[in-house]
Amino acid sequence: MREKWHTDQYVAYLKTKEWATKRQEKLESVNYSCDRDVGLTYQRGKDGILRRITDCSDSLEVHHRTYDNLGNEPLTDLTVLCKFHHEQEHRLISMKKRFEKGLDTYASKKYGNDWQDYHDYEDIAEEFEEWRNDAS
Ligand SMILES: [Zn+2]
Ligand SMILES: [Zn+2]
Repeated sequence: MREKWHTDQYVAYLKTKEWATKRQEKLESVNYSCDRDVGLTYQRGKDGILRRITDCSDSLEVHHRTYDNLGNEPLTDLTVLCKFHHEQEHRLISMKKRFEKGLDTYASKKYGNDWQDYHDYEDIAEEFEEWRNDAS
């Protein structure tokens, strides 16, 4: 497996001309639209007033779905998201990571460190979720 890029390498890459070109290419390929654009999103504030929280038009950003091919990524590794949906995406990713970490701890304690070799991930994930719901 290729060694993971360090964060500073990644940050440096984002400043390169190659990335600027690729980013532009991706934006054009989706006609400058956010991937999660499902029309308008509204949210009711504390004051009870419904407000439009995003129209997906401001600050389009190009998100890496995977960092595996960084520097040589195909356009399919990238997703164009508006600032709002990009932040949401990263919140979901960190939630998923926390879930996976918890699951691994749970399963390792119960079935040993090599649990993934003997058990179906989906089954254990379901079991873990049930356990977690019981615990809370
Ligand atoms: Zn959006
Ligand atoms: Zn991102």
